[in-house]
Amino acid sequence: MSASVDPDRSEWDVIVLGGAAAGENAAQYATQFSGLDAVIVEQGLVGGECSYWACMPSKALLRPVEVLSAARDLPGVSELIGDRALDSKAVLARRDTVVKHLDDSSQVQWALGVGIDIVRGRGRLDGERAVVVVDSAGRERRLTARHAVVLDTGSTPFIPSVPGLREARPWVSRDVTNLHDVPTRVVVLGGGVVACEAATWLNGLGAETTVVHRGERVLAKNEPFVSDLVVGSFRESEVGVRLRTSVTSVRRADVNRAGVGHLHGGELTMTLSGGDMITADEIVVATGRTANSEGIGLETVGLDPGGPVNVDDHMTVTGVAGDWLYAIGDLCGRALLTHMGKYQARIAGNVIAARAAGRPLGDGPFTPYADVADHDLVPQVIFTDPEIGLVGLTEAQARARNLDVEVVEYDLAALAGTYVLRDNYVGRAKLVLDRSADVVVGATFAGTGVAELTHSATMAVVAKIPVPVLWHVVPSYPTVSEAWLRLLETLNAVRHT
Ligand SMILES: Cc1cc2nc3c(=O)[nH]c(=O)nc-3n(C[C@H](O)[C@H](O)[C@H](O)COP(=O)(O)OP(=O)(O)OC[C@H]3O[C@@H](n4cnc5c(N)ncnc54)[C@H](O)[C@@H]3O)c2cc1C
Repeated sequence: MSASVDPDRSEWDVIVLGGAAAGENAAQYATQFSGLDAVIVEQGLVGGECSYWACMPSKALLRPVEVLSAARDLPGVSELIGDRALDSKAVLARRDTVVKHLDDSSQVQWALGVGIDIVRGRGRLDGERAVVVVDSAGRERRLTARHAVVLDTGSTPFIPSVPGLREARPWVSRDVTNLHDVPTRVVVLGGGVVACEAATWLNGLGAETTVVHRGERVLAKNEPFVSDLVVGSFRESEVGVRLRTSVTSVRRADVNRAGVGHLHGGELTMTLSGGDMITADEIVVATGRTANSEGIGLETVGLDPGGPVNVDDHMTVTGVAGDWLYAIGDLCGRALLTHMGKYQARIAGNVIAARAAGRPLGDGPFTPYADVADHDLVPQVIFTDPEIGLVGLTEAQARARNLDVEVVEYDLAALAGTYVLRDNYVGRAKLVLDRSADVVVGATFAGTGVAELTHSATMAVVAKIPVPVLWHVVPSYPTVSEAWLRLLETLNAVRHT
């Protein structure tokens, strides 16, 4: 949808550079009760990576895999399925619906409906409070902000410098979430969230999938049992896993110019560290992301491009005088997650509105104007099979912070709530406590149905609910939330031995 505003207009209170969900939130929070106005500058689709090429399509591809996995473990349903595979055509069609067929009309309408303008084009800072936008026809337009500029330009996949890899036109996250061709054989390079989720849906769609990861564990930032369970499940579902292995060279004889999600050429041959060769029809590179800080004019305000843009807890860019420049989302490098980018955006928007009105930002542990959650309180769900839900610190992180660490673990398969969910339930839960404060500082759950459990842990960790109070937070029977009670009972038993 073409979004347009008065072509002669050049000044707003707030300019948001990058119209992802976070950018939309920043504009909304800055303007909704303040009387300020805002414009979003977007070079692609309003809604950004998450709506079209990341969270939403990936979760649309993973949900059928999860449902099939659970159904296979439910007598009465499993007989109906037999050994049938997913209908990949139908799965991809639903994915297309979820990403609105890459049409951002509804998001543009929302923005215009709440009075936020949109200017299409590639923007860059041009000195204090100014942004130059170049549209698809090459025309330049200079916008100025009376109060603030918010940077929300996101991140792009990092491609390691392996001989032949770039030339082979590997798939990156946009290809694998928006795939149209299901490769017969695929190698997924990396062991993080994107790699593990992608391997899950590629395998679910019938691709012969191999994960190649240089580390000892996948999802290595998390509790070690997370990797054990996910790798165990990969192996059980015949996903190849090559740990402590790198790709040292890639060769693809015929590379084509096919678009996003189509095979980018013929067979690939990869040499692995150790000398093994592996052939595949596609390779997915999921080895991390780089902040989009180049080419956005940072040097015009005295900052060095490259790497994340540093901010303080008011999401105000450090090293620029005048408190007018903000950065949120992947660009600021705090937590590369949509919900955290949107949280940062709410903070930035509140701060902009307060500063414009001359209101003090105040202090105290919880104000609308300061980022608290990025400091050891980040929640995340990883939609592998089993699902992983986590928040706060791992045991290793808590020990590194010299907390008085106490841990407790529980086998989630032993709950009535999981017993009725499916046969052969595999899962685990772990709490990390600060013993001296008697509060939970981290939680990790693995297993079917834990995604929705994560928020209860987030409340406990953020609100520092004391353990004696948690005993009165009664979980409904029979649900996966009984994990809480069993963890407390286990903790009690440990404390009495
Ligand atoms: C496969 C995958 C799955 C994921 N799944 C999840 C998930 O389930 N949950 C979750 O929380 N996170 C998930 N993430 C992470 C999440 O997608 C990102 O953290 C989030 O999209 C970052 O949002 P952002 O606001 O920083 O920027 P982005 O979403 O990257 O958007 C930046 C926007 O800025 C625009 N832009 C950039 N430069 C300019 C410029 N110069 N001028 C104008 N416009 C510009 C871009 O076109 C884009 O629209 C996933 C990531 C991937 C890759």
